[in-house]
Amino acid sequence: MLRNAAVLDPEAGSLAEGQMVVVEDGQVVDVGPTRSEGSGNGAVLDAGGMTVMPGLVDAHVHVNAATADLAAIEAWPPSYLTAHAAGILRGMLDRGFTTVRDVAGADFGIAAAVAEGLLPGPRVLFGGRALSQTGGHGDSRPPGRTVLDQHPCAPSLTVIADGVTEVRRAAREQLRRGAHHVKVMLSGGVASPTDRIDSVQYSMGELRAVVDEARAANRYVTGHAYTAAAVNRGLEAGVGCIEHGNLMDASSVELFRSTGAFYVPTLATYAALASEGLEQGMPADQHAKVFEVLDAGLAALELAHRAGLPIVYGTDLLGGMHRRQLTEFILRAQVQPAAHVLRSATTVAARLVGLEGRIGVVAPGAFADLLVVDGNPLERLEVLTDPDRHLRLVMAAGRVHTNRLA
Ligand SMILES: [Zn+2]
Repeated sequence: MLRNAAVLDPEAGSLAEGQMVVVEDGQVVDVGPTRSEGSGNGAVLDAGGMTVMPGLVDAHVHVNAATADLAAIEAWPPSYLTAHAAGILRGMLDRGFTTVRDVAGADFGIAAAVAEGLLPGPRVLFGGRALSQTGGHGDSRPPGRTVLDQHPCAPSLTVIADGVTEVRRAAREQLRRGAHHVKVMLSGGVASPTDRIDSVQYSMGELRAVVDEARAANRYVTGHAYTAAAVNRGLEAGVGCIEHGNLMDASSVELFRSTGAFYVPTLATYAALASEGLEQGMPADQHAKVFEVLDAGLAALELAHRAGLPIVYGTDLLGGMHRRQLTEFILRAQVQPAAHVLRSATTVAARLVGLEGRIGVVAPGAFADLLVVDGNPLERLEVLTDPDRHLRLVMAAGRVHTNRLA
């Protein structure tokens, strides 16, 4: 139990002073004014002068992206990659992220390892391997290579599937392995050797087939896209969420509105890749593509914010750049008020992943994913972005990970 805390309500953008938060069996069971008598039989922590808030959600990560040279990972043994992923997951939890949505790479094994407490880390909501067409954003082969090794022990973040039959099978395969969503590549990307940023990928028939399969399993499809053309094709096919979207325009905003789709910008990764992508292992020809989308990202966010779209926190960082996971708060604060950015990493993220009331709030019935910070993030987002100084406690599913409360 936590006592004497100011409890943050991200949806209302308010703090309630003098509260206690009672935790039992990994869940919050009571939130209310601090009473003098004890409650329950767990440890009692005094959070006087501090803010208790829900753990953060990062809705665009790759826990297996251990280097910015994604093609290199495919030749690693899964055991070595898992050791890397363990460090990446621990770093995320150290920064206050208690749920992550992995949008290519993570599988049911890593999610189970965290859920069972074998690895410290945030809850992993995974989509398995992202679907890509031949020569698309998920095809890591250089043009001179034809061999494609899709053995399950080759730890690729993606699966190549072409044609309606193959994409249906690929989607069903991810869903069979427990995927929380299906990720599809709608356009070219930065970290791929043979496609253009402004290409559109997959036919409408293939996209509709993937959406069909996800809906049949009561799941949703999320799409990687940059240009308005790619974003719009995805939304027209029924994709429920768009990743990146740096080069979208007003026509895309209209489609977001009419479909209710979510938007996950990932500004942190472009800033990171521009400044240190080469030294982190990104091949030079891919690094050059960063500058086609870098500046447009903020304008796209502003467009989406003005339109009132449901915007979710995402970072998409690779390799040694994961330490920049909290910089997305600072980048977004250039065009969004702090309360909006906080909602994107809590309540709006919860809606996207279908865990409303379970994550992103401090309330009875929620998982006990709790942070204690020594300030009010509604007034100063820096309270979140400098965890060594301000983050005093991290609890994930009722387990205390960090405790620096005096
Ligand atoms: Zn990504």
